[in-house]
Amino acid sequence: MKALQLVAPSRFDLVDLPVPDPGAGELLVKVKACGICGSDIHGMDGSSGRRIPPIVMGHEASGIVHKTGADVADWSPGDRLTFDSTIYCGECGYCRRGRVNLCENREVLGVSCGEFRRQGAFAEYVVVPARICHRLPGDLPFEEAAFAEPVGVALHAVHRLRLGPGESALVVGAGLIGLLVVQALRRAGCERIIAVDLADDRLALARKLGATDVINSVSGDAAAAVRDLTDGDGAHVALEVVGTTPTVQLAMDAVRKGGRVCLVGNITPTVEFPLQVAVARELDILGSCAINGEYPDALAAIADRTIDVRPLISATAPLDDGAEWFARLHAGDPGTFKVILQP
Ligand SMILES: [Zn+2]
Ligand SMILES: [Zn+2]
Repeated sequence: MKALQLVAPSRFDLVDLPVPDPGAGELLVKVKACGICGSDIHGMDGSSGRRIPPIVMGHEASGIVHKTGADVADWSPGDRLTFDSTIYCGECGYCRRGRVNLCENREVLGVSCGEFRRQGAFAEYVVVPARICHRLPGDLPFEEAAFAEPVGVALHAVHRLRLGPGESALVVGAGLIGLLVVQALRRAGCERIIAVDLADDRLALARKLGATDVINSVSGDAAAAVRDLTDGDGAHVALEVVGTTPTVQLAMDAVRKGGRVCLVGNITPTVEFPLQVAVARELDILGSCAINGEYPDALAAIADRTIDVRPLISATAPLDDGAEWFARLHAGDPGTFKVILQP
């Protein structure tokens, strides 16, 4: 089978690999669409330590069951599906307590690090355990279904905040995940959604997708602007979707006393943390990692367009053009949200 393999830092080859065989409880999936994730782009040069070559990346995919392994009861060839990016064991303490995203034996599709190497979906076929798979509703196009993973990430982050009626929300960063978070907030009934970014075109899209107010933080004190919009107090909750010192500080400065801050972005491993802001204003600081049970809801939201992913598809391209797209995205292609590869 054809596969786009990272063979050395920042170097891809279109290689021919044997079609994997599904083991017990596994499905062989013919991949129809797979999105390029920010973590793939940041990981391809080796800097994150999570894409050690050789590896076939790709964890935002949809496709068709091609073959079932032994002991698979409820799937048949031809079924349309997507799957979790996290392969959880289902047996450890975290899995049994219903926190599969924190599984002790967690592997992530298309990631290779010190502990594991798991081939992903930038290939004609991929093998996944049936327990992490989800059926596609109706005739949902594969390109849109490939968004189930990032949409699930956005839904999970909003769930972490347990939003109350009438609460206002700040979203710091209007990139792909930020724009999905804006829509997840709107879908959760949030009536005041303030988006902050450095780019006017992203903010215009944020407004179109549900932000009630947008602030370009290039032009001044964004925290003060948020307070102005919220009776001088600051937002009830903030979602930080970048992961750098200034954006984390903005999220913490712009929530009111007793507010909640959900940290989603992690583009840098450490940030300078404003300790006194957190302590003296008694903030709840939450982390949000991947997805825990939000897949069915994510697929329903994409299908009924309460989360519209179509404006976020910048390009769809054949797998053969993958290396070119990775180079372009790694160089920083402004205005590009999601590129979908079709093996
Ligand atoms: Zn991803
Ligand atoms: Zn587990």
